[in-house]
Amino acid sequence: MTEKTYERIRVDHPAEAVARVTLARPEAANAQDRAMLYEINDALDQASRDPEVKVIVLAADGVHYSSGHDLRDRAKLSEFDTVLPFGDFDAPGQEGYMSQEQEIYLGFCWRWRNLPKPTIASVQGKVIAGGLMLVWPFDIVIAADDAQFSDPVVAFGANGIEYFVHPYEVGARKAKQMLFTGESISAAEAQRLGMVNEVVARAELESATLAMASKIAAQPLMGLKLAKQSVNMAMDNMGLWNTIQAAFGIHHLSHSHNVQRFAMMVDPEGADRIRAQARAARPS
Ligand code: ZN
Repeated sequence: MTEKTYERIRVDHPAEAVARVTLARPEAANAQDRAMLYEINDALDQASRDPEVKVIVLAADGVHYSSGHDLRDRAKLSEFDTVLPFGDFDAPGQEGYMSQEQEIYLGFCWRWRNLPKPTIASVQGKVIAGGLMLVWPFDIVIAADDAQFSDPVVAFGANGIEYFVHPYEVGARKAKQMLFTGESISAAEAQRLGMVNEVVARAELESATLAMASKIAAQPLMGLKLAKQSVNMAMDNMGLWNTIQAAFGIHHLSHSHNVQRFAMMVDPEGADRIRAQARAARPS
């Protein structure tokens, strides 16, 4: 297959039956603007359809995996070939913005979580808020020992990111601590909590990821698909999807509340609060 060229990501095939999508915006700590999210979605679709591919890796250039949503992005969804049936992204009231988040945040995450092939996130450095949406929907997580995971959006008056699976990923108590304090979870702690499969030295992240990918790629795709679907169904039977849907509604209560109070989707003091938390956490 001829490789498409993208602006925010790269796609290559670093091992037999393995496709790798790499976030290639390190100068912005791989902040996700809308163009990047659509490119990721397109590349994951292509890899899913490619009969030569059995395992899909998501990796990132640079020091940090992803600093989350690019809050400076002003692109309109009408500029993109939207993929989900929500529509009317410019509708007044909460309706339009809710449709936007249903498409590019919750909708994309749920599609990626249900891709028919095993997926691996290969993670280093900071993973902040929306950055988690490029980790949690994926099947296996290999982390460098410098990886740190946080969702500090309570500081913006919200309940958490749009893909609300925290209690399933880290357990209920840790989920509350993570959300209440905005503090990050280290790679080692994430592994103890079951959120991460393996922790390796930063220099070994790529080789460890490809070793895992190749081990999986040696299996028949039919077995892999069915195993993945079975584990996903177990999570769904534990209420995962209903939790996500309910929390997404509450998330839009937060946006609506913030619009009424501050005339913007988030509490404007959020960024200052997060900076103060970071100062307090820094060793003196
Ligand atoms: Zn939101």
